[in-house]
Amino acid sequence: MEGLMHDTDYPYAFNPLACQTCEGNCCIGESGYVWVSPEEMRAMAKHQNMDEASFINAYLLKIRYRFTLKELPYEGGFGCIFFDRAQKMCRIYEVRPSQCRTFPFWEYFKQNIDEVVTECPGIIRLS
Ligand code: SF4
Ligand code: SF4
Repeated sequence: MEGLMHDTDYPYAFNPLACQTCEGNCCIGESGYVWVSPEEMRAMAKHQNMDEASFINAYLLKIRYRFTLKELPYEGGFGCIFFDRAQKMCRIYEVRPSQCRTFPFWEYFKQNIDEVVTECPGIIRLS
């Protein structure tokens, strides 16, 4: 199928076209962490036209020595603070963190393919 993304280390491929109808399943659901590096923080703050301190205060939570994106209650679970509920998409897509950019090719899912299949309709099993 044209446009499929595949990493040879993974037992599945990903069809990005699925995102058009999925309505952001990977940005909502159970509570979780979306880690943000200092460089990503600076890029996101700039994107929001905010200084870093204001950005951190508004959008990030500090967990020990790292920062994660805040969440908001959403449909019985949680949604990322940057999830646009009306458009069902990311409000900072161009500067979203690496953790979001690399989904669904996360090391964890290599051994837990059923979890990523449940979460992401773009997954195509290869074995
Ligand atoms: S869950 Fe999968 S198909 Fe849905 S938006 Fe996220 S990456 Fe795209
Ligand atoms: S930053 Fe964007 S892509 Fe990442 S979880 Fe939040 S809404 Fe989704």
